[in-house]
Amino acid sequence: MQVVTSVAAMQRLAKKWRRTSTTIGLVPTMGYLHAGHLSLVKRARKLAGKNGKIVVSIYVNPTQFGPREDLSRYPRDLKRDLKHCRDEGVDVVFVPSDEEMYPGKTQGLYSTYIVEEQLSQGMEGASRPGHFRGVATVVAKLFNIVQPDLAVFGAKDFQQAAVIQRMTRDLNFPVKIDVAPTFREPDGLAMSSRNKYLEGDLRRQAVVLSRAIGMAQAAVEKSPVPAARLKADLKQFIENEPAARLDYVEFFDPETLVPMPKVTRGAQMALAVFVGKARLIDNAKL
Ligand code: AMP
Repeated sequence: MQVVTSVAAMQRLAKKWRRTSTTIGLVPTMGYLHAGHLSLVKRARKLAGKNGKIVVSIYVNPTQFGPREDLSRYPRDLKRDLKHCRDEGVDVVFVPSDEEMYPGKTQGLYSTYIVEEQLSQGMEGASRPGHFRGVATVVAKLFNIVQPDLAVFGAKDFQQAAVIQRMTRDLNFPVKIDVAPTFREPDGLAMSSRNKYLEGDLRRQAVVLSRAIGMAQAAVEKSPVPAARLKADLKQFIENEPAARLDYVEFFDPETLVPMPKVTRGAQMALAVFVGKARLIDNAKL
């Protein structure tokens, strides 16, 4: 397994692979890898075949964090991440520095970004202004650096996957986007690097996100329910946990992300909840 830190070296490798028509699969991550990330790597390997090349990028992308967010304390453990990647048969781990990814940014000399203007408006986009601009920009850059045939993203970040699919189509990136199902702990908590923040009783309280999804699924099973009523019920249910505070819960069309005033089976639900200092997200089809 190769660890590549420079953009130029990664582009050289990609160019070499492409000359021999080798399929390249990319799994972009921010590191602190867990079984959810590794399930994406396994999918990438399946899609690219045993002769394909799998690249995992590990980069905590500063442009997708707001000024009051957890960029500086985001969990990191490169040594452990590299071991996981080696065990999964990853070919290259791309670990660039900020200066490689955003040359000149500290001197105010980086000035190009990608903005998706529709799907990124609500939910995470509304709660985290600029977040999807950072995500779209870094993913577009990774596509240009790694030149993958396919890239795997997780359904855990549902809106992110939708924004990236739209960007890929709109900007004609020759990349097939694959979206992998959410990998969960046995009690239902969606795996996340941010679960590291859940100390003591917070880990137990965090199960409230997946329980809220289960509650909504049961509520709409027989007949449609007004979104406003379901939102109010879920807020009460979630905030019954002492350290939990609902940021948003939304019900929407899974293709257009347009909110549904009446929630029916088949609607997509997404929510963000602060559990202590950790901001957790989850989503599912009802
Ligand atoms: P992150 O490192 O959190 O930016 O995540 C990197 C990729 O892994 C994204 O495409 C995420 O959607 C995906 N991912 C994160 N957690 C999970 C999970 N529990 N199940 C499936 N995919 C995940």
